[in-house]
Amino acid sequence: MDRNRSSELFDKARGLIPGGVNSPARAWNSVGGTPIFFARGEGSHAWDTDGNSYIDYVCSWGPLILGHAHPEIIEAAQSAAASGTSFGAPTELEVRMAELVVDAVPSIEMVRFVNSGTEATMSALRLARAYTGRNRIIKFDGGYHGHDDALLVEAGSGVATQGIANSAGVHPDYAAATMVADYNSVESVERLLEAHRGEVAAVIVEPIAGNMGVVPPSDGFLEGLRELTTAHGTLLIFDEVISGFRAAYGGAQSVYGVTPDITCLGKIVGGGFPVGAYGASKEIMQTVAPLGPMYQAGTLSGNPVAMAAGIKTLELLQEPGIYERIAATTDRLADGLAKIFAETEVPAQVNSVCGAFTVFFNPDPVTNMKTASASDGKEFARFFHAMTDSGVYPPPSQFEAWFVSAAHTDADVEGTLAAARDALRS
Ligand SMILES: *Cc1c(COP(=O)(O)O)cnc(C)c1O
Repeated sequence: MDRNRSSELFDKARGLIPGGVNSPARAWNSVGGTPIFFARGEGSHAWDTDGNSYIDYVCSWGPLILGHAHPEIIEAAQSAAASGTSFGAPTELEVRMAELVVDAVPSIEMVRFVNSGTEATMSALRLARAYTGRNRIIKFDGGYHGHDDALLVEAGSGVATQGIANSAGVHPDYAAATMVADYNSVESVERLLEAHRGEVAAVIVEPIAGNMGVVPPSDGFLEGLRELTTAHGTLLIFDEVISGFRAAYGGAQSVYGVTPDITCLGKIVGGGFPVGAYGASKEIMQTVAPLGPMYQAGTLSGNPVAMAAGIKTLELLQEPGIYERIAATTDRLADGLAKIFAETEVPAQVNSVCGAFTVFFNPDPVTNMKTASASDGKEFARFFHAMTDSGVYPPPSQFEAWFVSAAHTDADVEGTLAAARDALRS
């Protein structure tokens, strides 16, 4: 497969943009090689600048649950753009979009739209602090919530309950106020809450972990978090930036029947445009300006083009049977891959939920970051390159979700499994 144009563009980009990319995972650092530059997408497929086609499982890292360039979403965005791309004043589209989100997500009675998932989680933390009058936050090892200072934090060594920054430039005081627990361990959260009674504003969790690869919550984990946080007067924040409108129309909270205090949305909610959102009960949302004392704003927030695309996406997702179809496609891929790994005797785990899965090159079950980290990233990298060379584009890291859309067909599933069989045999 010839990718000369991608190579040329990457060389040029590296002189102009740090690492040649506008978001680090795109640089293929963890798999090596030259990232593919894309020119066009349609349905389940994307074409690179050299004209090669790929069955796409990145799907923009989640937003494209209806595939690339869905004609009705494009039409909605074009028609909104033609009427003016931004006003910095309220529009009817925002009201319609808010209504759709409030109807869809059990915990949300009021919602504020922002421009990214990062903005949503950052604002949710500020809201939790403002509402509770407390400062500490608990997150989970391997949980990713965007690049807000307070969330770029990993566990300190030993028994330390102060987080340390995992990025240069984060003020140590921000990092120190964030504590890190183990995903799927209610006990690890209980210990931190007990040690800091009355000080923890919020526990933030991806109800289905997606950023250490897909790791579903174990039985009782989310219920346990709900009980504990309620008992401690701590708010429970579900970061549903991936799982919202993917695990189900109402998100992971509707699947597991656990209602958080604050929910963060992003990715799908913008229909392929930059949108994030955070929402909660009216009582909590009254803290947000101009109703209350917590300031949060945005010049392009609630942007009409993005709202129109988001509205059309949510409307299309209400079609009966669509989630059953996405779940069935995901199952066929996950089960098919697990079978091929077993046949070829390559040790692996396939974790999956509706619309997302991860193949971990790991002999043991993956239930948290510690077990995920034991995966063989080098083997994954070889698999990744064999797959891309045969026209299947998985995420360029062992620790990411493969995203399945409603546009992925049976033929795509067969093509993907055939490519995997060849890759693993060689
Ligand atoms: C992608 C992601 C974010 C950040 O969203 P951006 O739009 O990239 O800022 C936050 N939380 C989770 C769970 C995500 O997957």
